[in-house]
Amino acid sequence: IMFVGGDSSYSGGWEQLVLVGADGRHLSQAEKLDTILLADSVRDELDSLRRERLASTAGDVSMRDALEQVMTSKDFSDDERHAIDWHMTLTMRDDCGADDPALSLLWWDEGYEVYGYGDSVFVNGFTTMTESLATGLDIRLKHVVRRIEYGRSHGAGVSVSTDQGTFDADAVVVTLPLGVLKERSVEFAPALPPEKQRAIARLGMGQLAKVVLLYKKVFWPRDQYVFGYMCRPVQDRPTMVVNLAKTHDVAALVLLAGGSLARRIETMPMAECESWALSVVRDVFGDSAPRPKSVERTQWNIDPFSRGSYMYVAVGSSPQDIAALADPVADTLYFAGEATYRYHWAGAHGAFASGVREAARILDDPAVLIPRSFTENRRWRDAMMRATRLFNAMSSSMDVAEIDSRVGLLVNSDIFSKVPPNELRVLATMFEPVSFQPKDLVCEIDAPASCIYVVASGRVEVRLGDGTLVGEYGRGKLVGEYGLFHGGRHTATAVALERTDAFALDYQRFQRFLLAFPESMFALLQVTVARLITQNGTPRPESLVPESGGTR
Ligand SMILES: Cc1cc2nc3c(=O)[nH]c(=O)nc-3n(C[C@H](O)[C@H](O)[C@H](O)COP(=O)(O)OP(=O)(O)OC[C@H]3O[C@@H](n4cnc5c(N)ncnc54)[C@H](O)[C@@H]3O)c2cc1C
Repeated sequence: IMFVGGDSSYSGGWEQLVLVGADGRHLSQAEKLDTILLADSVRDELDSLRRERLASTAGDVSMRDALEQVMTSKDFSDDERHAIDWHMTLTMRDDCGADDPALSLLWWDEGYEVYGYGDSVFVNGFTTMTESLATGLDIRLKHVVRRIEYGRSHGAGVSVSTDQGTFDADAVVVTLPLGVLKERSVEFAPALPPEKQRAIARLGMGQLAKVVLLYKKVFWPRDQYVFGYMCRPVQDRPTMVVNLAKTHDVAALVLLAGGSLARRIETMPMAECESWALSVVRDVFGDSAPRPKSVERTQWNIDPFSRGSYMYVAVGSSPQDIAALADPVADTLYFAGEATYRYHWAGAHGAFASGVREAARILDDPAVLIPRSFTENRRWRDAMMRATRLFNAMSSSMDVAEIDSRVGLLVNSDIFSKVPPNELRVLATMFEPVSFQPKDLVCEIDAPASCIYVVASGRVEVRLGDGTLVGEYGRGKLVGEYGLFHGGRHTATAVALERTDAFALDYQRFQRFLLAFPESMFALLQVTVARLITQNGTPRPESLVPESGGTR
């Protein structure tokens, strides 16, 4: 196995990735980072849209609709749109294997776990693993299953009819790919329960195609694992060109494309596929790039035993459908395979772990299960990575004196004073300076809240909806932080009493900060609770004691 670095996507990791722009120019590290930060900001917006929809029970929406909503609210240039498009296409079409109109905003990554950091490659091919797992087992290849009879009408056990004869067993583990289950090319008698059939219909089967160009010799940088293809609009182009010389010591390049583009690649005439692939390679390596010795492509969708690459969470489905797909039927039919594993679908690990899960179930022996090691939730990890990228970018673009002066303000503020010093330096970089003239509205009760303010100089008067004066806030005081936790609405009205300079921090950034630095989150909670107690009077100790007969 060779570790190729990366961040568990096909990109091979942002640090190592070479992004190739128009005219085959390699983007500088700074330009590459700009595209990543831009895409990060869009991902943040998508994430908050997801949270809003969940909080309001607005229901699911496709990634396409969500993305359009975010993009129309921003004033991106054409180049910026192109970069964002590339990043989103990499995640959705070429990693999830789904076009964005099909992918669920709410659930596409719900509960998905990642193990370790980065990608490793089986240098002798993936069969290394399957052959090792198959050692000592009686495996019958080339037996096409046509029908599975089970349940009461059949008596005890199961009969599996294949083109090579019928096999009887006490139970079976069905590992048919989701695409095959969708196609119903294997008949179940009786039919599968309605809930399982609905899950099969709702979950999406993704597409991912690889086009491999084999050359006489390597003419590209041998040690560069992945080239990001940003040369042209990404709609009918791959997002990546992968170099197999680095990992497999063969003079070959692999183009990766998912979703409907994968379906097109699979079905286009081979000559068209070859010239498509060559044009991609020449965009990346120049017009002098030679013709390949041969070109091969995968055809997982055409393959009647796959009908696609792997599962994705489609609009209208949810991880509950994954659980429904995994449910055993009549104590005789057990289900495994990547699409049945709700912690890590679409991957070999999920397929393996689901098999072990069913073995444990059949044997009624939890000891068979692989011990669950500490894992990271992908959504959380992605948010953390976005947060740290932003902090690093902000801190490197601000001079030390400015950071020191902001820290001086924050350290004496009522709410940030408890934030650990190093974290405060990070936070300080994230504010934007703003000024208010006397009588200017800083924020208005019930109006949508988008940022918090720390007063640097001047005074602000804060009142509740009924006119009650909350206080006059001067240097170091914070305004607007409750809105973050109150459905994005301000809970009070604040007006500048004199010229007031403040620092504004938008919620997206604030939230990223709080997620990245839990100790600061706790400090903020402490101060907020202390404030509430002051406002509402000290709680009576007896109010925490259950009343007689109470069950608290
Ligand atoms: C292009 C591509 C790239 C991928 N890259 C990665 C990656 O980098 N990392 C990763 O972890 N995963 C990757 N995957 C996903 C990974 O390959 C799958 O998640 C995994 O193979 C799923 O295993 P499974 O046992 O659930 O299904 P499968 O491997 O599809 O096994 C199902 C088996 O059922 C057989 N079958 C189907 N119908 C019948 C029938 N009627 N009778 C008898 N047998 C039948 C099929 O022939 C097949 O052998 C990739 C997949 C694709 C397509």
